[in-house]
Amino acid sequence: MLPDPAVQKAGAATPYGDLGPVERMARRRPQVLIVGAGWGGLTLARRLRSVPVDVELIDRNNYRVFSPFVYQVAAGMLSPGDVAPPVRKLIRSVSNASFLKAEVTGIDAQNCRVLTDHGSLSYDYLVLAPGSVTNDLGNATVRERAYSLKTLPDALGIRNAVMDALERARWAEDPQQRSVLSTFVIVGGGPVGVEYAGAVIDLLRAVLPKDFRDAGHEAKVVLLEAGPRILPLFDEPLAASAARSLRKLGVEVRTGTALKAIDQDMVELADGSRIEAGTVIWAAGVKASPLGGTLGVPLTSQGRVPVTSTLRVKSLPNVFIIGDLAAHADLPMLARPAIEEGEYVAKAIHSMMLDREPEPFVYKDPGIMAIVGRGSGIAQIGPFRLRGFIGWLFWLTYHILILDTIRARFTALINWAALFLFREPPLRLDVSAKRRQAPD
Ligand SMILES: Cc1cc2nc3c(=O)[nH]c(=O)nc-3n(C[C@H](O)[C@H](O)[C@H](O)COP(=O)(O)OP(=O)(O)OC[C@H]3O[C@@H](n4cnc5c(N)ncnc54)[C@H](O)[C@@H]3O)c2cc1C
Repeated sequence: MLPDPAVQKAGAATPYGDLGPVERMARRRPQVLIVGAGWGGLTLARRLRSVPVDVELIDRNNYRVFSPFVYQVAAGMLSPGDVAPPVRKLIRSVSNASFLKAEVTGIDAQNCRVLTDHGSLSYDYLVLAPGSVTNDLGNATVRERAYSLKTLPDALGIRNAVMDALERARWAEDPQQRSVLSTFVIVGGGPVGVEYAGAVIDLLRAVLPKDFRDAGHEAKVVLLEAGPRILPLFDEPLAASAARSLRKLGVEVRTGTALKAIDQDMVELADGSRIEAGTVIWAAGVKASPLGGTLGVPLTSQGRVPVTSTLRVKSLPNVFIIGDLAAHADLPMLARPAIEEGEYVAKAIHSMMLDREPEPFVYKDPGIMAIVGRGSGIAQIGPFRLRGFIGWLFWLTYHILILDTIRARFTALINWAALFLFREPPLRLDVSAKRRQAPD
């Protein structure tokens, strides 16, 4: 049976009519429905543990992805289990929260219901935290031929594709075909593209000479960025130092170079030139989850939902939006805004239950950082700028500390230490899951 609170007033901002706050709480605990168990949604569910509400967390996946490490799965450095703990485990200690695995297909805000592929659920407070999806910028060839680097299955798909390309190159008799199969183009010079480029060049330069001794050629990694420089969110000197580090590792960094189309074994650039490459990885951007479109309110150009200073939809006062889907004060689509918004909404819901207007949300910017290959990173924290080995150590320490479980911290630490010392990414497997055929 799906949970379904007894009292429900169609179209009401809250379902309690004229009752006072104490009476309301005594009657029934309000149902908070959170869509998305990512950075924002999970933070919120945990923060609501001390608020007298019942929390239902819904996600299409039964795991929470630690996104900063997704590229490391794609590069064979970490396994999916190291970066994606089960949601049920993460909320086990939150006695007022439970989890449902479902695909949310729409919102019926008039009747305070969320529609899923398993049925509908009602809510008193709805919090939408479904994150973002890959933005192929309307380019059909990207959709058809590139590997996107967004989700955990994407990362495994890339790992398999890279391994498969190397194995096929071993069979190719034509040197030109071998070179095509060993050329990898990454599109997008943001943190995801830069981090993956740094990791994959290390994988390729470490793997090819040792595992493919007789291959007789070198793999090539090209990073394309349409804008004038990589890492536009970072200060120019830091971004320039990241570009230098990548080039030192052997990555061909090409700025001011837009992709036009992808064809079989070939990338066509906007200036008409071509790069022959067997594998293209798309890391050139994201747009907000299409779920925002089902609210029936105008969206921004990135598909984000404009919210008030209390992160609510103006016309729907019991609907909060957080994370990548929320358009608030030009905050970037990053984990930290999603986390802080999740923390804030727990307090805001409590205030509303007590009939108090929530204080406006204020973002405290802790800074940004990125890793640029083995032993090199950059960080921009307030007035401080870190780069090189210090930047890398800082990135590592920060991310180890924010991992969810002791086991995950331990595994990541061991893997990184082994990688640093022996330059041997441990997970060079080409393996994909097979599901049982559904009976006719
Ligand atoms: C590869 C990669 C690396 C990144 N690295 C960093 C980094 O180093 N630092 C940083 O600050 N940010 C990073 N980001 C950005 C960061 O991950 C996002 O900004 C952040 O995850 C947004 O949080 P969120 O809660 O809005 O959404 P998410 O954390 O993405 O969570 C959304 C959840 O909603 C679920 N969902 C979506 N739609 C539905 C639906 N219809 N039905 C059911 N469930 C649904 C998804 O399965 C997901 O679990 C990275 C992003 C990517 C893709």
